[in-house]
Amino acid sequence: MGHINVLDENMINMIAAGEVIERPASVVKELMENSIDAGATRITVTLEDGGKRLISVQDNGCGMDPEDLDRAFEAHATSKLSCSADLQKIATLGFRGEALASIASVSLVKAVSRPAESDAAHTIEIDCGTRVSAGPGSGDYGTVIAIRDLFYKLPARRKFMRTTNTEMGHVTEQFTRIALAHRELDLTLIHNSRDVFRLSAHQSLRTRTSILFGTLASDMENGFLELQTQEKGVELSALISMPQISRANARLQYCFLNGRFIKDRIITHAIKEAYRGLIEPNRHAVVFLFMIMPHEDYDVNVHPTKAEVRFYSGNLVHSQILGALREALQSADANVFAKLPEASSTGALQAAPPGQGDMDRRTQVADAMADFFKEHRAPSAPRQLDFQSARVVKQPVVDYDSAPEVQAGQVIESIATDVQNTVQIHDSYVVSQTVEGFVIVDQHALHEKILYEKLMQRVTQGSLESQRLLIPETVQLNATQVALVEDSQALLGKLGIELAPLDARTYAVQAFPTLLSRANTVDFVRDLFDILEQSTALEPDHALNAVLSMAACKAAIKAGQKLTDQEMRQLLLDAERAESSCRCPHGRPTTIRFTLSDLEKQFLRT
Ligand code: ADP
Ligand code: MG
Repeated sequence: MGHINVLDENMINMIAAGEVIERPASVVKELMENSIDAGATRITVTLEDGGKRLISVQDNGCGMDPEDLDRAFEAHATSKLSCSADLQKIATLGFRGEALASIASVSLVKAVSRPAESDAAHTIEIDCGTRVSAGPGSGDYGTVIAIRDLFYKLPARRKFMRTTNTEMGHVTEQFTRIALAHRELDLTLIHNSRDVFRLSAHQSLRTRTSILFGTLASDMENGFLELQTQEKGVELSALISMPQISRANARLQYCFLNGRFIKDRIITHAIKEAYRGLIEPNRHAVVFLFMIMPHEDYDVNVHPTKAEVRFYSGNLVHSQILGALREALQSADANVFAKLPEASSTGALQAAPPGQGDMDRRTQVADAMADFFKEHRAPSAPRQLDFQSARVVKQPVVDYDSAPEVQAGQVIESIATDVQNTVQIHDSYVVSQTVEGFVIVDQHALHEKILYEKLMQRVTQGSLESQRLLIPETVQLNATQVALVEDSQALLGKLGIELAPLDARTYAVQAFPTLLSRANTVDFVRDLFDILEQSTALEPDHALNAVLSMAACKAAIKAGQKLTDQEMRQLLLDAERAESSCRCPHGRPTTIRFTLSDLEKQFLRT
């Protein structure tokens, strides 16, 4: 007797659901895309309990007659393709005909639809793949599809859904992508009877972006550039950050191709290249990029959720994006290019190799961080608002307090810190005579490294000393980040940061670490949450590492800043005391050494 069974249709749908329906956010995406394909101009998404209990999407699109309504929930049922030639030029968001069948196989669905030309609505109810009722209903023109209790018969899948806040974060992300791609639409997102977003049709990109990302609102006016180009049948428009605005992760890089959100390595690379030399290599620009190109020029049928596409001429896409962005950045401030040293200009010179024992120390630190991270994930009580605190004086002078103890066995070449023989050049580098020759120090990279070591030591041993802010500064967080505040209390405590809620999205920063007094408070907290938001996907020690390197970078002396003799001396002294200070936390060299014999060789004296 044979062992092979041919699966029934419902099993096939449930398996397909595993691919396209991961969580409530996937349902929201599929339903909103169907509404857009149906020509809707207004879509309302209503959720309960992060979508775990209810997801309802209502549109004013073309609607379905009773026959189509019935068929829409069958596997491979689509009105968007009819022959294989159609696959070469897909103009709709959907085409696989599996979303509704998949959703209906794993939940309780009720749909009501009324075509534009009809005055009767029809309804259908499906419970995990089985039709339970169908018949006349009542409703407006368009379609409402309501999904209850996603995965309720599949405990294994249900278990994979996270807290309401987390699921809502994913939903908000999907909604945001669609809202950016389709500004012509009137869109509403409601969660547990409260409005999350109400977006009116035809908003400008800047307006819509400011609403969707509260954190960008204040930067929108002066910190962003808009560009528009058209070349070889490809239309490109974008809103991009000026170099002074950057983020600790690339989450705020959104690319859309013909109204579809896509992730594409060619595009990511072109963006990175466009900002090369303008922002630190570990920072990411904020970019909203919209491409319109003929459907025949790419294939979207390469990924179940269509998040990836295949361009037929990727090189052209790359060079067009790179060219357009670079030109916009250049014309906005031609000087900005002259001001920044080319990333590779010091590449030819060899930096001293990191000291021995570096690896051991790194594993020790990693262990310490892993323990510490476990502990600081524990929730603790939210703090009270307190405006009665002492005034913070931001110190303009370099304030290095005691550097960490030099570890036994550590060998650091001594830098003669005779200030007579030390000069600053181009307000960015410090050149100093040594016993064997001379050294050139990158003031920002070196200070960053020293701070990083200091922060790491303090955080692993205790917590950072902080100052209370007399006038607390306010910071806006996004929905996912708000959910992280409570979970991150212990980490915030370690860092010496106190946040108090002012409203749903706004927090007051009441205390801030002394060591970071050079950093902009609001920028710092925002970047911190950008990192924490990503940290669920990161190893705990990487997350802490990312936080501390970001902190060190922000609080370090900048390139282009004039230093006094006293400050230069202090910097070199601290470098001497700090361990393994030859590379900044981003891996760039901090110090380049020359010996007299190097010079003698150059001058052909030997
Ligand atoms: P696809 O979008 O890939 O065609 P779906 O399973 O998502 O597959 O939808 C099946 C069909 O149901 C669609 O092709 C469309 O004809 C119809 N449909 C789905 N949602 C709507 C809607 N909101 N309004 C009108 N028709 C819809
Ligand atoms: Mg669809």
